[in-house]
Amino acid sequence: MTHPAAPKASHFINGAYVENTAGTAIPVIYAATGEEIATVHAATPEIVEEALASAQAAQKAWAKMTGTERGRILRRAADIMRERNHELSVLETYDTGKPLQETLVADATSGADALEYFGGLAASLTGEHILLGEDWVYTVREPLGLCVGIGAWNYPTQIACWKAAPALACGNAMVFKPSETTTLCALKVAEILHEAGLPAGVFNVVQGMGEVGGALVADPRVDKVSLTGSVPTGKKVYAAAAADMKHVTMELGGKSPLVIFDDADIENAVGGAINGNFYSSGQVCSNGTRVFVQKGIKEKFLARLAERTKGAVLGDPQDEAVNFGPMVSERQMEIVLGYIEKGKAEGARLICGGERVDRPGYFIAPTVFADVTDDMVIAREEIFGPVMSVLDFETEEEVIERANATEFGLSAGVFTRDFTRAHRVIGALEAGSCFINSYNDAPVEAPFGGVKASGVGRENSKEAIKHFSQVKSVYVRMGDVEAAF
Ligand code: NDP
Repeated sequence: MTHPAAPKASHFINGAYVENTAGTAIPVIYAATGEEIATVHAATPEIVEEALASAQAAQKAWAKMTGTERGRILRRAADIMRERNHELSVLETYDTGKPLQETLVADATSGADALEYFGGLAASLTGEHILLGEDWVYTVREPLGLCVGIGAWNYPTQIACWKAAPALACGNAMVFKPSETTTLCALKVAEILHEAGLPAGVFNVVQGMGEVGGALVADPRVDKVSLTGSVPTGKKVYAAAAADMKHVTMELGGKSPLVIFDDADIENAVGGAINGNFYSSGQVCSNGTRVFVQKGIKEKFLARLAERTKGAVLGDPQDEAVNFGPMVSERQMEIVLGYIEKGKAEGARLICGGERVDRPGYFIAPTVFADVTDDMVIAREEIFGPVMSVLDFETEEEVIERANATEFGLSAGVFTRDFTRAHRVIGALEAGSCFINSYNDAPVEAPFGGVKASGVGRENSKEAIKHFSQVKSVYVRMGDVEAAF
């Protein structure tokens, strides 16, 4: 019997579901049980061609519509997503294993926010008029053309919407490839956009592994690539895009510092550390996985953290009482367990967790290591699982230097009651998305993205418009042209 989460077909191209079983079979595994609930097929070269050709054909007419018309369609899609939030959240939970308690408030809702926000902005995208005496210059904000979006597996609905909404608002068309681990949700986003009135071909979804992504990125018709993924993949995709001088947005990984001073409100600081390490079972790129705690409150902090971590309720993620789900896949579970073993072997002090949970699915108990030092592997590499490293520090100067001693620069947070110190420390931390007395908030109104190896460009907010459009400037001479001869 077909599972209710199974998609109608593998791809969504030119306004319709499309199947081609000649492509490699990709099993859809429910992470909470390990069972295969559906199968999709990777795009063949013919499917990739169909998607790119239909996007290219649709883009010009889409760009010719007024911003008000484009925005109306995006906002209608946002409304549909909100009406179907429960159904979409159940699907997101099947796709990722994240608990329904989270997906009900963080996925389709965040996607709808992006569609509503960029739908609202679409009509207000204008150029400038620059007077130069009698002459003048005007600028036009133009779409880039054909954009490719490539997603990671942790937020399949949100990533598809965060890329599609600004791209489409600006008059671009998009071909989106979800991660092979989470193939379901982007198809629903495409379906809903078309139900809302999006012209066929403007947003297409094709499945596949890295090689399908590679084929999309290398195609000369593509003007822009927006990737959410790891730093090594980002480097490859950025290099491939450079061959044709394509625009890029790179949302990559992190190993972000969360700095907790002695004077912090301890419950808020513990709450921030929990949100920044255990939400989505730690599979969040901006997580504050290096928790620097000033020596004066260290033991108190660890005691409260261990206590509150007991509040994690593991179980069937479709049960709304459950607040902690499995790793997205067996592979990711093995990677994370490998890091936990490294932490133990390197002599970090295990406060809680540290093992796979004895039940079906890919569950790892929320894990806290204390006495972690800067040179340990668990303090240097992105783990992408529920593993928090607590490091000690004494002075502000010292913690800033140590927090910045990483190739990554996605996020940073500080907890303190000292107002001026909060701003001073955040000002000195090398990160793109920062938090004061909070952690991991990602409203669509705020720019999101990293510095250093964590990426280029920004998603969300008005910043994203700059990354999905380009400016044409036109000089207009009102008098005669003077020339040397
Ligand atoms: P990967 O970097 O492995 O993959 C990201 C996407 O790129 C996938 O769809 C993947 O396909 C595709 N891909 C892989 N190789 C290529 C290639 N050569 N050309 C084009 N596309 C390619 O990341 P994961 O999916 O494993 O996601 C986890 C990572 O994503 C973490 O490291 C995390 O830091 C990062 N991330 C960053 C976020 C941010 O906003 N900064 C948000 C969420 C995650 P496939 O996997 O199907 O083979």
